[in-house]
Amino acid sequence: MHIIGHFVAGHAVAGSGRTQDVFNPALGQPVAKVALASADEVSTIIATAHAAYPAWAATPVAKRAQVMFRFKALLERDAKRICAAISEHHGKTMDDAMGELIRGIEVVEYACGAGELLKGEHSKNVGPAIDAWSEFQPLGVVAGITPFNFPAMVPMWMYPMAIVCGNTFVLKPSERDPGAALIMAELLTEAGLPDGVFNVVNGDKEAVDTLLSHPLVKAVSFVGSTPIAEYIHTTGIANGKRVQALGGAKNHAIVMPDADLDNAVNALIGAAYGSAGERCMAISVAVCVGDQVADDLIARLKVAIAKIKVGAYTQDSIDMGPVVTAQSRDRVIDYVTGGVADGAELVVDGRDISVPGFENGYFVGPTLFDRVTPSMRIYTDEIFGPVLCVVRVSTLHEGMALIDAHQFGNGTCLFTRDGEAARYFTDNIQVGMVGVNVPLPVPVAYHSFGGWKRSLFGDLHIYGPDSIRFYTRRKAVTQRWPSSGIEEKTQFSFPNMAR
Ligand code: NAD
Repeated sequence: MHIIGHFVAGHAVAGSGRTQDVFNPALGQPVAKVALASADEVSTIIATAHAAYPAWAATPVAKRAQVMFRFKALLERDAKRICAAISEHHGKTMDDAMGELIRGIEVVEYACGAGELLKGEHSKNVGPAIDAWSEFQPLGVVAGITPFNFPAMVPMWMYPMAIVCGNTFVLKPSERDPGAALIMAELLTEAGLPDGVFNVVNGDKEAVDTLLSHPLVKAVSFVGSTPIAEYIHTTGIANGKRVQALGGAKNHAIVMPDADLDNAVNALIGAAYGSAGERCMAISVAVCVGDQVADDLIARLKVAIAKIKVGAYTQDSIDMGPVVTAQSRDRVIDYVTGGVADGAELVVDGRDISVPGFENGYFVGPTLFDRVTPSMRIYTDEIFGPVLCVVRVSTLHEGMALIDAHQFGNGTCLFTRDGEAARYFTDNIQVGMVGVNVPLPVPVAYHSFGGWKRSLFGDLHIYGPDSIRFYTRRKAVTQRWPSSGIEEKTQFSFPNMAR
């Protein structure tokens, strides 16, 4: 069976030790193996990135940006190949894979403007013959550790900006769907990126722990589940690294009595069940204000759910694929069974689905619960599957209090026609990314992405303007070139240039 290795110094290289199966979740069969790097292999890759750093950091920013222009064109040329690699290991539909690739390409487009983004700040004559400026210098080797659910887009939230800022990069993709990362590495080399600037190391905890403890790694960007995000943040900080660690989510949408219900139903169906609910911005809770809204919404959701086509990415007109592994399927089913035991009303049960021709696939059908309460595990936990929970409340404030009390604060949405309610909601809700009649408010590439509370550990959000701050450090330079004739005097008091 094909073994997916690493990408180092401009070349694909085989791993030398442990491996793990990579599955096609629609078939429920292994289709490849992925190498799991040892600590020594990771250290060698870090050393390669470190060796490439001085020349890359000294490369003019316009030349670094030109690599990104060429990379964008190559991503578009090879989009179908990349999407096939995503869908084969992840299970999502090809349209959905194309959606994530396009959102990733938007970050590459933003990186193309690095010359403008990295311009420093200059002040002339801050004192007699003294000028001052602040500039953004790269950090060195930085690492990205990414989850399975967006194998192209989430790494692209990180490395285009890290690289264009002058850093060299080591990516540790998810071991569950490692295919897309190696294609992107090949394309960066084809785009003219010097060898060693972008490297991929496949692996598991051993690789991650080496990245977290290695002294040559200066910063770590992580996206994944909350327990691991917290571990990465704590460990990375303890080892003196700059860390941003984005975690899990439980995204609520509040549906107001004045909402356009057809619009809300369309939006909720896509946001809850698209990608089998395996999105950190998926809506997994619909909070209905008033019983009438809840009854009407559920009646319409039932009709819409019956039309959702579940199948393999190789089939035509599929809306939703399987979840990523057998363990994920079993976990989602356990949550559904637990929700019934806890007293929630199971309106649509997706547990027993079978897709003809793909009987061994890891499918879970769209599932809908009503009368979910905040103490139930289906409400408190991130299920990361196609399960939508309806919670009934009486007022907008009651709905907002629920959201504010939840451990996660990644995304949220309000469906309404009332501008005053929308403004109150966006001003006050304790969540990092907020939509009004927009169910998946994933910021465009020139606004940074990040949640609040236990959805993000660290200070800076990912991509957009925050990425310039994260992947560089400021240097402030104060420079004096005395003109002839200015008298030099010893100054014992603390320097004060303005007087
Ligand atoms: P995960 O936390 O299991 O894995 C993420 C990465 O961490 C992988 O590269 C994995 O190899 C590594 N890892 C796993 N266990 C580890 C351990 N014990 N020690 C060190 N490293 C370890 O996440 P996942 O299941 O791949 O992805 C789904 C999760 O990611 C969900 O919780 C989802 O909400 C979250 N996510 C969040 C965002 C966001 O922007 N906030 C975006 C996408 C996904």
